[in-house]
Amino acid sequence: MSMCKDCSKMVQFKRHASGHLGLERNFDADDGTDNTHRHSYYSCRICGTQWSFLNDKSDPRAGWNTLLPDTPRTFVLRHFR
Ligand SMILES: [Zn+2]
Repeated sequence: MSMCKDCSKMVQFKRHASGHLGLERNFDADDGTDNTHRHSYYSCRICGTQWSFLNDKSDPRAGWNTLLPDTPRTFVLRHFR
């Protein structure tokens, strides 16, 4: 399935880039011991694209990126611990 218009306009790997209103927040996952590093997972109500949002003040590439449908389950589990 291809991305809807709103998803395709989103900028990946850029801090402070914004999402869109069709995104539904699924859950958050901490990725380490400090609170500065946090993933939130979203899915799009329109096209079903899975997004993760990394909130990390020290990483300029933090921000949105897509979790592609063929993302190995192990990758997901590692991040959902
Ligand atoms: Zn979408």
